Amino acid sequence: MIPKIVFFDCDGVLITSNTWESLLKLAKFPKNENDRLWKKWIEIQSGYLRKNLTKQKYQKEIVEKILINKDAREIITYLKKKNIPVAIISSGEIDYVRAVANELKIKIFKVNTYFRFNQAGKFVRMDFHTEDPIAKVSHIKEICRLYNCLPEETFFVGDSNNDLKAFKLTQHGILYKTKDPDCQKFAWKMIENLNELKNLITV
Ligand SMILES: [Mg+2]
Repeated sequence: MIPKIVFFDCDGVLITSNTWESLLKLAKFPKNENDRLWKKWIEIQSGYLRKNLTKQKYQKEIVEKILINKDAREIITYLKKKNIPVAIISSGEIDYVRAVANELKIKIFKVNTYFRFNQAGKFVRMDFHTEDPIAKVSHIKEICRLYNCLPEETFFVGDSNNDLKAFKLTQHGILYKTKDPDCQKFAWKMIENLNELKNLITV
């Protein structure tokens, strides 16, 4: 089929840098705090970010250091040539996702996280659009309305658990480079290279 839109997750798909891990490293967050509940988790993370993160550090060490997946440029150019709209649907933070969108010249991008800094440039808190991964579902629906199409007529390329609701919604979840059986269960197709998408676009 020819998808009406191709949605891309950002981290692990369009970029190979792990922004969240780098961010926590930058904030000196200890690794063993890993498995608390989400809200508690955000609270703890925010505490460390408050202590160690400034807007300038974030910009220099995370936003300016995004590593674009080399296969992403090719597939995005290919889709544009075919007049198939592309959009980024990320749970990530707006500044680095915007940098990815600019780099790949993707006009539509949606995020779920916003960092707030005070006037002195110190991290204050993070705000969320809504609960992750419901955010991805509502963002897909919103863009589909804009393009006058149904979610089932689109593809969603993702790589982890927080993409599974989007996989279900579009019924065309394309799992990228992931062996996780839970993810595989919900995927329509599995790919190891983003350019394999070309084979999935058929008349
Ligand atoms: Mg991802």
